[in-house]
Amino acid sequence: MQGFIATLVTIWRLASPYFRSEDRWPGRALLAAVITIELSIVGITVLLNQWNNRFYNALQERNWDTFVSELLFFCVLATILIVLAVYQLYLNQWLQIRWRRWMTNAYLGDWLSDANHYRMQLLGDAADNPDQRIAEDIHLFVDRTLTIGIGFLSAIVTLGSFVVILWGLSSLAPLHLFGTDFNIPGYLVWAALIYALAGTALTHLIGWPLVGLNFNQQRYEADFRFNLVRVRENSEQIALLAGEQAEHDRLRERFGRVVSNWLAIMTRQKKLTFFTAGYTQTSIVFPFIVVSPAYFAGAVQLGGLMQTASAFGSVQGALSFFINVYRTIAEWRAVIERLAGFGQAVADAQAVAVEPPVVEIAAGDGAVIALKELAVRLPNGLPLVNANDLEVAAGDRVLLTGPSGAGKSTLFRALAGIWPFGSGTIVVPKNARLMMLPQRPYFPVARLAAAVAYPAEPGTYDSARVAELIAAVGLPGLVARIEEEAHWNRILSLGEQQRLGIARALLHAPDYLFLDESTASLDEPAEAAIYKLLEQRLKGTTIISIGHRSTLAAFHRRHFALEREGDHYRLCESQLEKSSG
Ligand code: ADP
Repeated sequence: MQGFIATLVTIWRLASPYFRSEDRWPGRALLAAVITIELSIVGITVLLNQWNNRFYNALQERNWDTFVSELLFFCVLATILIVLAVYQLYLNQWLQIRWRRWMTNAYLGDWLSDANHYRMQLLGDAADNPDQRIAEDIHLFVDRTLTIGIGFLSAIVTLGSFVVILWGLSSLAPLHLFGTDFNIPGYLVWAALIYALAGTALTHLIGWPLVGLNFNQQRYEADFRFNLVRVRENSEQIALLAGEQAEHDRLRERFGRVVSNWLAIMTRQKKLTFFTAGYTQTSIVFPFIVVSPAYFAGAVQLGGLMQTASAFGSVQGALSFFINVYRTIAEWRAVIERLAGFGQAVADAQAVAVEPPVVEIAAGDGAVIALKELAVRLPNGLPLVNANDLEVAAGDRVLLTGPSGAGKSTLFRALAGIWPFGSGTIVVPKNARLMMLPQRPYFPVARLAAAVAYPAEPGTYDSARVAELIAAVGLPGLVARIEEEAHWNRILSLGEQQRLGIARALLHAPDYLFLDESTASLDEPAEAAIYKLLEQRLKGTTIISIGHRSTLAAFHRRHFALEREGDHYRLCESQLEKSSG
């Protein structure tokens, strides 16, 4: 019961924001229309039920006039029902897409704001496959919530109306068994209720493991897909290493999970379908059996019998709502759990960035970056890098060295404000623009000019300027392809990508430029040329480079080194050893 209430609370938490959003009026209007139509359909069903009585009595009495007029009446009802059915679906779909559009936007916003997506990844796989959450689960959630919610409402109203009808019919056709009348008020209602409740309970008993199984199925499918994508993205490496067999084995293993879970679903589904199919068949004759004593005793006419059967079907259909949507409800709950889990992961990622202890980024009035009592840690709390009382002034050229794995890149992440793990303060001048250039720069699949200008809005920089910079970083051959759209990360060599990264830095001209082995794939003369270019074109920019080559020293004026200190490294100012060349 507690779990049920918790699920309802979760559904409310997931569903209600849309109906309070800026799109609330269209959303509410559509929802109201869909509900009104649904209720009208129940109303028509009630009219049709009463029609049954008159129509079959007319047949039994061979009354031609009534037969014809009832047929016409049926045509009118049927026409209205058709129109309602069409608009029920149409408006429902309209509501769905508006609701989904709003939720997708909201989720994208949460996921992509303030490096949440990155911290979620760092915090572990609580939110495995955000892509599936955003692309699929929101769609499923909206669809299932409407189907189930409106189905539920319709079931309740149907139940109410037809219980009244059945109650009336019970008194018209008292239970007549073995020559005696049994006076059980509303016995048809009780018969229908007991029959449907028994069915619902048994369905729940047989079907509940499907909730967990469906949840796992979607996870395994997504995992398999994710691994396929990894292969596609790393296909060159895999081909060079002849890793196909290993990949094949791994993919087969992942797909093996899909298969074995599917087998478990099949077995369970088979049991459930045995029951539900049997139940459906029994339902066809069950009402006739219940009313037959009264009919054969002459207490009811054919019309009464048919009306009872139809009302019985409606009550039972409404009550066994859960039987018919069992699979949907199982899937719906899995979707709800996943969306709630995603929301939780976003909240955790937000919390970890602000709840102390965190590396605090403070806006300073001066023009220096200052590290104060900084202790950068791993997500699991292990110490990594400490630094205190270090300053980088405007225009400085700092070389940062240290053993690999010492935490140089992580220190840069902390400076960029995306690595909250640790404590202490990093003072960054107010409104200063920082730019990080990693070893492997990221280029969106876009026109070359836009890929270089990323993440600037299209049109911020004119193509001629981008072209000039591409030539300046030593890629004159690419200038002609500046309007070409391609997957640049895949087709360019790492050295070429690094040159384009430098072009991006020159274009944006940040106040602080952090180069994390951003020229490591270039030969030494090329690297020297790039640093000269940076020197000439970014005079006002402070540059902090991570690098291993001794030749880099010539382009820097200060040297910070990571030195081992117990279980972590300490960042210290050290002597710059310029090679004689
Ligand atoms: P460097 O740049 O000095 O070679 P890094 O800053 O990349 O080193 O990494 C420092 C250490 O932190 C390494 O031991 C690495 O394994 C660890 N590390 C980096 N990122 C993570 C992470 N997301 N989760 C756990 N450990 C990490």
